[in-house]
Amino acid sequence: MEATITKTIGHFVNGRILPGSGDRYGNVYDPARGEVTARVSFAGRKEVEEAVASAAAAFPAWAATPPLRRARVLFRFKELLERNADELSALITAEHGKVLSDARGSLTRGIEVVEFACGIPHLLKGSFSENVGTGVDSYSFRQPLGVCVGVSPFNFPAMVPMWMFPVAIACGNTFILKPSEKDPSCPLRLAELFSEAGLPPGVFNVVNGDKEAVELLASHPKVSAVSFVGSSAVGEQVHRTATAHGKRAQALCSAKNHAIVMADADLDQAVDALMGAAYGSAGERCMAISVVVAVGDKVADELVKRIVERIRTLKVRPGLAPEAEMGPLVTGEHLERVKGYVDLGVKEGAKLVADGRGLKVAGHENGFFLGACLFDRVTSGMRIYREEIFGPVLSLVRVPDFETALKLVNDHEFANGTAVFTRDGDTAREFAGRVEVGMVGINVPIPVPVAFYSFGGWKRSIFGDYFVHGTEGVNFYTRMKTITSRWPTGIRSGADFVMPTMK
Ligand code: NAD
Repeated sequence: MEATITKTIGHFVNGRILPGSGDRYGNVYDPARGEVTARVSFAGRKEVEEAVASAAAAFPAWAATPPLRRARVLFRFKELLERNADELSALITAEHGKVLSDARGSLTRGIEVVEFACGIPHLLKGSFSENVGTGVDSYSFRQPLGVCVGVSPFNFPAMVPMWMFPVAIACGNTFILKPSEKDPSCPLRLAELFSEAGLPPGVFNVVNGDKEAVELLASHPKVSAVSFVGSSAVGEQVHRTATAHGKRAQALCSAKNHAIVMADADLDQAVDALMGAAYGSAGERCMAISVVVAVGDKVADELVKRIVERIRTLKVRPGLAPEAEMGPLVTGEHLERVKGYVDLGVKEGAKLVADGRGLKVAGHENGFFLGACLFDRVTSGMRIYREEIFGPVLSLVRVPDFETALKLVNDHEFANGTAVFTRDGDTAREFAGRVEVGMVGINVPIPVPVAFYSFGGWKRSIFGDYFVHGTEGVNFYTRMKTITSRWPTGIRSGADFVMPTMK
């Protein structure tokens, strides 16, 4: 529904808000009401060039700033994030729709990456070897790359950008973020707060927009690296463009995360975990559990019974309602897409045991709400099994034993996260060792690694070789240099025409 648009969201370049100059805009919605609340300016060549020029100009001085001084700016940024956490969480809920407590939780996970990046003086420590040859020393250290770009998805407007820019900037790079056009306000506010923390102009820039801005950035000669998080279809393309233009690139992409429930699992724990992991954030999480693999019909029947009961009391409300457990989907378009998958599942012959399609939320009849859905008897040939739905739709697959469950997970093209529910240490260890997935939970449904570990999937859930944050994040945003040095100590061997070796 088009209400009167009161706000136009621009960009943040060279330390200040930059109004859009073009004529292309996107709508930003309040998903709980289904109304347009703002329009966001889509950057074209002019804004992209301005952002790249500002980031490139800021790079030499920022790269030369001692890491400890950079860390001090990050410490102040962290304090400002905490002081403004209510406002930031409310911005996330207003444009994404997720419930406020969940928005706050995702912000906290982002702040943890800032905390990690505050340790940059230690993280950038190199190595030194004395006397690798007589009177010769060697040392290695890592240096920043230059202008780095981040492209982020709609589902975590604060956390996912914060997987990227705090680490990149702590390493001495400058950064241009192209957030999702669906919820651009929180990323812009992050830029204002970072600036308030003392970050020099041009070090962190936000360019709003769509495909056009992404393509211009990913192919720009002055950009050194591109981090992308989003769907595999887009991520694969962005990765290809960036690498074809000689850039370092990482693209973290789509998911279909399986939870295996063994016969010996604590079913109370497993059902609690599945409810949160399947329906939290309305299933719009790349680490959501979208497939539950029940080992044995007894477990399957019990899970179906208990999940259906729990869905009946699930509180689907606007994200700001204090009692809300699940909010609306992000846009009307996405709602229709997810509903389309539910229709498809019925056509494909899966058994829809909980149908959220008819849900109406009183007072919010135009909101983008869909109730929780559960399909039983899903099989691996169905599209609802193979494709990422990204909504509150959980598929249950019945298998006879652990080996079949493991094979099912390993045969899927996506391999972001997975979990096993069991009391048996052997089963858990076997699963952790043999499953071909990047992030694994043992009785933990959403095994998102903490900031000082690295986050990433395998197979078509990632393009590129580096995960984000933790050591891999630091390595992605830096390159190594190794120095071999000798001083005139009086040791003279004359000109040597053979490959230098230790004599
Ligand atoms: P998306 O791929 O549609 O968009 C991601 C970003 O790419 C946005 O900034 C968007 O503006 C831009 N974009 C869209 N189309 C483009 C194109 N053709 N060319 C260049 N850029 C383009 O993803 P989304 O719908 O915003 O987010 C949901 C997806 O993100 C899901 O697939 C989810 O699994 C994935 N995701 C993955 C992770 C992970 O870590 N693996 C984390 C969060 C989300």
